[in-house]
Amino acid sequence: MPSPAIQKYDFETGVFRPPSEGGSFSLLVRFTRNCPWNRCEFCAMYKTERFELRSVAEIKQDIDAMAAMCNDLKALSAKGGRGDSVSHEGAVALLSRHPELNHHQGFAMVYHWLISGGKTAFVQDANSLIMPPDQLIEVLRHLRQTFPSLTRVTSYGRSKTLAQRKPEELRAIREAGLDRLHVGLETGDDELLRRMKKGVTAQGHIEGGRKAMAAGFQLSEYWMPGLGGKAFSEAHALHTAETLNAINPNYIRSRPFNPLPGTSLESAVAEGHMQLLSPREQLLELQQMIEALEVTSRVCFDHAANYWTDRSGDLLFTHGYEGYKFPEEKPKVLARIAEGLLTDIRHPTFLSL
Ligand code: SF4
Repeated sequence: MPSPAIQKYDFETGVFRPPSEGGSFSLLVRFTRNCPWNRCEFCAMYKTERFELRSVAEIKQDIDAMAAMCNDLKALSAKGGRGDSVSHEGAVALLSRHPELNHHQGFAMVYHWLISGGKTAFVQDANSLIMPPDQLIEVLRHLRQTFPSLTRVTSYGRSKTLAQRKPEELRAIREAGLDRLHVGLETGDDELLRRMKKGVTAQGHIEGGRKAMAAGFQLSEYWMPGLGGKAFSEAHALHTAETLNAINPNYIRSRPFNPLPGTSLESAVAEGHMQLLSPREQLLELQQMIEALEVTSRVCFDHAANYWTDRSGDLLFTHGYEGYKFPEEKPKVLARIAEGLLTDIRHPTFLSL
């Protein structure tokens, strides 16, 4: 329980957000807690946590508390003669007034968001679309009204939930101020989706993705190179490209598979039931997928796990959030893969088992 003096700043912040909402760029606003599905075999994000919806009143209270913190940071910064800009001195002044804020999970996030321009927000946690649409719309409107400087609001969403929502509901959510959805496609191979307990088929991914695009969302689809190991490599590459071709999302983001501690896949690898791809085999899978990709999306490698390097030791692909524009830059990506295949690439230590 926060002390009465800082109760007006009381809000909660979740742990996860996509790389493109990282650094200091996005205000993290928690609409739900954890993952309502929570069964994917490769995922360790929320495994020990229980999913919870949050009430509209609770979420609005969080947004108001963030606004109170922003206003006080701005007011104290202005006293230091910095006009509207938030300053280091303003932050120090607020911390001196309320030292408890040193332990506030969201203070640094809000401060960095403000000094980065206060432009984007990310709605946490794993599938905000699971909220009743009218409630989601109400809190999105409140967020936009409270922070008019926002130019982009994004969230995670599941294909299955998107497919279940009516087109008019999705349009209303979009119009209430949710601009971009990050969806975990992972693979377009039905057998691999089943084994990974993703809870959706390739057709479900296509239906959900197309509905999101039709409603006007910017759609960002994540896939996992290497997810099927050696046994599924070709099917994974080709069916993922086919599925993404059918959706043609705004963004396709590569998040290479690495068996995480505590997941069943870690045991499957340790016990020899799953053979991981070597770095060279990963690139061959990537080559097969990219060759089959016929989209007008931006293809991105913005996750740190895209570690491959060229013969000079530089990263093979840019880690920029906007990646490569397809089809124009498809030859460039294929040329970089060809360069990578000439390199003696090893798993970096941070990805080793
Ligand atoms: S839906 Fe996303 S967050 Fe939930 S278990 Fe699957 S990968 Fe993890």
